[in-house]
Amino acid sequence: MAEINEITPNEEKKVLNFVQQIVADDLAAGKNGGRLNTRFPPEPNGYLHIGHAKAICMDFGVAEMMGGTCNLRFDDTNPQKEDTEYEQSIMRDIRWLGYDWGDRLYYASDYFPKLYDFAIRLIKEGKAYVDDQTSEQIAQQKGTPTQPGINSPYRDRSIEENLDLFQRMNAGEFEEGSHVLRAKIDMASDNMHFRDPIMYRIIKKPHWRTGDKWKVYPMYDFAHGQSDYFEGVTHSICTLEFVPHRPLYDYFVRELAGDSAKDYCPRQIEFNRLNLTYTLMSKRKLLQLVKENLVSGWDDPRMPTLCGLRRRGYTPQSIKNFIDTIGYTKYEALNDISLLEHAIRDDLNKNANRVCAVINPVKVVITNYPEDKVEMMEMDNNPEQDGAGTHSMPFCREIYIERDDFMEEPPKKFFRMTPGKEVRLKGAYIVMCTGCTKDAQGNITEIQCTYDPDTLSGTEGSTRKVKGTLHWVSARHSQDAEVRLYDRLFAVENPSAESETDFRQLLNPESLKVVTNAKIEPYLAQVAKAEDKFQFQRIGYFCVDPDSTEGHLVFNRTIGLKDSWAKEQKKG
Ligand code: ATP
Ligand code: MG
Repeated sequence: MAEINEITPNEEKKVLNFVQQIVADDLAAGKNGGRLNTRFPPEPNGYLHIGHAKAICMDFGVAEMMGGTCNLRFDDTNPQKEDTEYEQSIMRDIRWLGYDWGDRLYYASDYFPKLYDFAIRLIKEGKAYVDDQTSEQIAQQKGTPTQPGINSPYRDRSIEENLDLFQRMNAGEFEEGSHVLRAKIDMASDNMHFRDPIMYRIIKKPHWRTGDKWKVYPMYDFAHGQSDYFEGVTHSICTLEFVPHRPLYDYFVRELAGDSAKDYCPRQIEFNRLNLTYTLMSKRKLLQLVKENLVSGWDDPRMPTLCGLRRRGYTPQSIKNFIDTIGYTKYEALNDISLLEHAIRDDLNKNANRVCAVINPVKVVITNYPEDKVEMMEMDNNPEQDGAGTHSMPFCREIYIERDDFMEEPPKKFFRMTPGKEVRLKGAYIVMCTGCTKDAQGNITEIQCTYDPDTLSGTEGSTRKVKGTLHWVSARHSQDAEVRLYDRLFAVENPSAESETDFRQLLNPESLKVVTNAKIEPYLAQVAKAEDKFQFQRIGYFCVDPDSTEGHLVFNRTIGLKDSWAKEQKKG
């Protein structure tokens, strides 16, 4: 039997969340013979997003924590929207998060024969009937939570007629929408889901796994609970919107299993969905963004999809840490995206090497530095990590700094480069600005400085204090790179709440700026491989995009060093 004390010492101190507590109590009480089996049941009709990650961390996480197993089951009951492209991406993304279903890969479509047989049995028992009405008519008869529904005129068809019609529905004799199979339960039930729910509908599009074998397909509500049962799932953990469906799932399992459902029935436990500010999680809308080329694809670094977050530079650990922070509750909430951003900043601060890159370069000439001289400066890889080592960066007479780091006529408290003042060049010398050159339009084309040879970093002279330290790269040795400056995809805090406005109007027009002539230090040009993550000193965290080729590196901004949105909000 799986015991809670199998938890590693590190996790032992952790307080269980309410779902884990229920599972632990069931295990302690010896339910299901001490077995723990969860499942993650995606529909292969889109890519996984950060909301799914919350469900995955729960389903796989609790099994891992308490010595159980977790199935991956594709809920592929609707051939109209499903595809193997989605299936493959889902498997890749779950593995990327660090979870594995082993040999427990299942498909609801594998249960189509069993579900069909069960439907036939319910018809024979007088518990299901074929309805010839349209879905609109059926919806009109449904009633309201306070008003009972109206029985369908087809509700009392003979068993023979129902059997004949259902088999002909599946043989392809009828058009889509002309007939459905409904459970005959109770049109006056307090629970709307019991008002003769639809079990099967006709779909004439081939299924990506079963081809055109079937013309009738089970509704999710007729497939889900029984699929859990067929697989021996002990704890069926899902999101809160399924609370009112739970009694129906239990009803179908009782009908299916009879008395043995007393010994074993999957236990459904619901938790709150993840909703994030400045983000949409609807798969339908995400698909629309992709189809209409409003983003570059499902893995656009602005998308809340796991492949988008990966391309943006998020790590699996940062996503797990974020999900731990927000936790699992019984109440719907809107979580602040800055918590997710904090999680990746925190992770990369510990783990990303520091390098120099200048995004908006302006040239600086150090007029008293010899023309041909090159010095190799030693730069720390990561001061947050013992043993991260150093790399060297060439320094010479001409360098680049950020345009923003120079002002000819600065306001008070500007401690960067300005005529007549000293600043330190990170890892190198203190320089004094002596002037600048402008073009006919007044744009600064070059800045002049002199350096103090006694101030080399790491030597005695370097103890002299100046107020500002700037990052820089050598003009002669640096390479050009493309930098994609990503920001939040939506401009409004809760895009789902703006039901009056087309969600495409709510996109942040500033969500991507592309810089093609950023300058990067030679070390970075040499080591950068797709998906590598770096801190660009004083700027933020960047990740190498898979679009990079030999000689043309592309970097995606994961996140700035500081929460600039928080600052803006304070400013008002
Ligand atoms: P659909 O509207 O297509 O059903 P869905 O987001 O529910 O979309 P599924 O593929 O059915 O997609 O989701 C698989 C699992 O992930 C479900 O158990 C669902 O409860 C869970 N899930 C989906 N979205 C979220 C979310 N935002 N937060 C937490 N769990 C989620
Ligand atoms: Mg769903």
